[in-house]
Amino acid sequence: MTIDLRSDTVTLPSKGMKDAMFSAVVGDDVFGEDSTINTLEERAAKMFGMEAGLFCPSGTMTNQIAINVSTKPGDEVICDYTSHVYQYEGGGIARNSGVQAKLLHGDRGRISSTQVEESINQIFDWLTRSKLVSIENTVNKAGGSYYSLQQMQELSAVCKKRSLLMHLDGARIFNAIIEAGYTPTEIGPLFNSISICLSKGLGAPAGSVLLGSKEFIREARRARKVFGGGMRQAGFIAAAGLYALDHNIDRLKEDHRRAQVLRDAVQALPYVKEVLPVETNIIIFTLHDAIPVDYFMQRLADNGVKSALFGKQTVRFVTHLDINDQMIEKTIEVLKKVQ
Ligand SMILES: *Cc1c(COP(=O)(O)O)cnc(C)c1O
Repeated sequence: MTIDLRSDTVTLPSKGMKDAMFSAVVGDDVFGEDSTINTLEERAAKMFGMEAGLFCPSGTMTNQIAINVSTKPGDEVICDYTSHVYQYEGGGIARNSGVQAKLLHGDRGRISSTQVEESINQIFDWLTRSKLVSIENTVNKAGGSYYSLQQMQELSAVCKKRSLLMHLDGARIFNAIIEAGYTPTEIGPLFNSISICLSKGLGAPAGSVLLGSKEFIREARRARKVFGGGMRQAGFIAAAGLYALDHNIDRLKEDHRRAQVLRDAVQALPYVKEVLPVETNIIIFTLHDAIPVDYFMQRLADNGVKSALFGKQTVRFVTHLDINDQMIEKTIEVLKKVQ
């Protein structure tokens, strides 16, 4: 038995999901003729109370398109320094859009409306134009922390007041929704654009949806083509996304419950120095220097447990659809055996 805790992207499609994929009605989506993709885009948009959606191959692409459509070269996007858009998208902010990032240090990845307001540049010829605020919910690098509805409302209010656009990298927004108890329709109107991932906790093999106004999505479609993301009969993949929205949202609370069990066990290990607070499905912990991280991860791997390196002496576990209680028990046994 392999227990793959590296990421919630490693899930394999279930029988039900595969059946949905193979029976999908498809067409050429560049011509707008794939009815499964059209259904997914409409369903996701409606869910968040937004006008339109755009199906894309990855969450990196939906984020990069959102930044590209929202800015002009030389503008500035304000985000936390832990942001996926800044850390893990290959410098795409600069490379794709000629935009620079203003990095804030939030509370475990969550930036406040005060921080944002203080960081907006005044209008002078010599100052970069602050144009877009991008937040991540939940925050991956900070261990799956989530924003409260009020925090997002406050951020949105500042952006509206100061005429900035606001983007949500919602790769794990459903983890936040399930844990915090707010609804997608409460979130949608706060943002100009939202990216949701179907291939993380929701368990689809690929795909993200970008949401926004009709006008925004019209521009985003152009950008998607330019970025090489115009797909043809991709309804086979979109069908997995629709299946995921129908079946795999409520069960995320199981992942969160298992993450708590794993956190308690990790916290009790003598060789663990620090565990970040666990709010959703991500457990990030740091080892004492006496136990080299390579050795630790190899010992786990030798016992069938895969983990991800997440910094010097730091390891990440992520619970997901393909991790059950028995696997958590086995992982804890293995962890206790490591010296
Ligand atoms: C995974 C992830 C993305 C998108 O990643 P892709 O692998 O390109 O789909 C975006 N933001 C966050 C926070 C993520 O964790």
